[in-house]
Amino acid sequence: MLVTESIDEIRNTVRLWKREKLKVGFVPTMGALHEGHLSLIRQAKKKADRVVISIFVNPEQFGAGEDYEEYPRKLEEDLKLCRKIRAAAVFTPETSVMYPGEKVFTIDIKDLDKHMCGASRPGFFQGIVLVVNKLFNIIEPDIAVFGQKDIQQYLILKQMVKEFNHGVKLEMGQIVRANDGLALSSRNAYLSNEERLKAPSLYRSLTYIEKQIKDGVDQPSLLIEHQKNELEAKGFKIDYINMFSMDKIVPVERLEKEGNYILAGAVYLGETRLIDNILIEL
Ligand code: AMP
Repeated sequence: MLVTESIDEIRNTVRLWKREKLKVGFVPTMGALHEGHLSLIRQAKKKADRVVISIFVNPEQFGAGEDYEEYPRKLEEDLKLCRKIRAAAVFTPETSVMYPGEKVFTIDIKDLDKHMCGASRPGFFQGIVLVVNKLFNIIEPDIAVFGQKDIQQYLILKQMVKEFNHGVKLEMGQIVRANDGLALSSRNAYLSNEERLKAPSLYRSLTYIEKQIKDGVDQPSLLIEHQKNELEAKGFKIDYINMFSMDKIVPVERLEKEGNYILAGAVYLGETRLIDNILIEL
């Protein structure tokens, strides 16, 4: 397995593979790999002959006061996992390699980051679009796999690929959960034992709302308010829980008889931000 910090080395390696007509899959990550990341890598391996993983904690997607410094960094363990799963290459650039100098251009994403996680994390999705744009230009993969856990990221990147004509096909990987339902996340490492026991309540609330919707509730706002109150009573601080349209990522009050919706939530347990979502097709 190639492990490299160098843009030229990863680029040349991928170009050689492509010359041999090998299909290249790509899974971008910020490291501290867990079973969620590994499931994306397995998905990429099914579709591609060679899979590249990037491990880069992208400073551009952290706001002031967020956890850039504390974010878990476990490169040696990550590389062991990548070897075990038989990744072909891991790209681990330094920040100075990804951002060597003055940045003149910014990418405006208009309304796609007005709601959901974008509303409370200004600049977050701009930072993601910036880094993934660079990574796609460096690696030029045939396919790239992103997790449903970050559904807004996936939808924004889909639009980016379409508008900027990146020659990559995006795939979405399902959310991998712990046995008690908590979506796996590198940030779960921040949770105290007590918080970890409470954390699956977010998913439980979402599944409860989902069931009511499947049973016919078409205006779920009261139901959602009730679940928010229950979570608050358990000690969660709510950022948002809401239904969003799948195409525009805007909140929806009344559900149509047929449509694709995202039931999504973000909450804080202590300092830790947890996100989760369920896709609902009516
Ligand atoms: P991150 O390292 O948090 O930037 O995540 C890298 C990729 O892994 C993103 O596409 C995430 O959506 C995906 N991911 C994170 N957690 C999970 C999970 N529990 N299940 C599936 N994919 C995940």
